[in-house]
Amino acid sequence: MVLNIYYLMVSLTALFGGDTTMRAVVPGPLLPVAGATALMPAGMMLPAISSGTRDAKLRIYMDDLGKGFDKRVQEVLPKIDGVPRRLLAIRYYMRRKSDMRTKWTWTPKQIARYKKSSEYSRSMAEVDSVKWKFNALNPGYNLTTNTEVRTLDDQIRNWNQTPSILAGATELMASCINAIADSVLYLDDPDRASLARFARFLEGCQPSQIPTVAVPGFSQHGQLRAFDFVVRSGDRIVAGTETGSIRSAWDRAGWTAKLHDAVTQGSRRFVGPLASPREPWHYTYQP
Ligand SMILES: [Zn+2]
Repeated sequence: MVLNIYYLMVSLTALFGGDTTMRAVVPGPLLPVAGATALMPAGMMLPAISSGTRDAKLRIYMDDLGKGFDKRVQEVLPKIDGVPRRLLAIRYYMRRKSDMRTKWTWTPKQIARYKKSSEYSRSMAEVDSVKWKFNALNPGYNLTTNTEVRTLDDQIRNWNQTPSILAGATELMASCINAIADSVLYLDDPDRASLARFARFLEGCQPSQIPTVAVPGFSQHGQLRAFDFVVRSGDRIVAGTETGSIRSAWDRAGWTAKLHDAVTQGSRRFVGPLASPREPWHYTYQP
């Protein structure tokens, strides 16, 4: 994408005439959108559509798609900051529709019920066994982990504050705005075909920046089966859960391998570490 160049976006309908709904030209800066020039036949005078109008069209499509989601998702969406992050969330919710029943973050009631179960006691015993093994293999260091659920509010906060989410979301929004500028394929007032087309487009779009946190509601920590292990020496964190520390604190310092040794020697109930996004500290308990 060439920055500092403002591309004019135009709908095909507007380009080829016959458009009775063409909007007024509103002066103001336009977002640069990669690939937008491909829509423009050479030498043609182009009517401009303001960035505000394009954003509004995208929001109409997002709102219409949102209506098809489970109520729990519909309650989360307004709590996500800004259109780009919400759009990225919608993309992930579309891909996880079939997981709503089994993978959604537990309610306080479900957590309380699980904590009384024998499966919970067994999982805690397995976590202790891994810790004991790690401490025995690595004198002077100790392994800790949070054994509480990551609440839905915490997951929403993470989604709203994590830089990788905004990076991927901004990229996704540029692609979507570029696509729906075509008012033949994507009607300004979306019908069923336009909406289905947009859903397919959005679902197929893969931003180059992979999110480093799960879309709210689908963190593996939302059910008590995922554990992030932290290496400490006394009060000091030697290897924690920061994405930026993976290479130095985990891989080069050897803790990625040492944790894996302790997990596999201390228990047969864990799989991991998480591969995408890569988290050498994250293991999942398999009942
Ligand atoms: Zn984790």
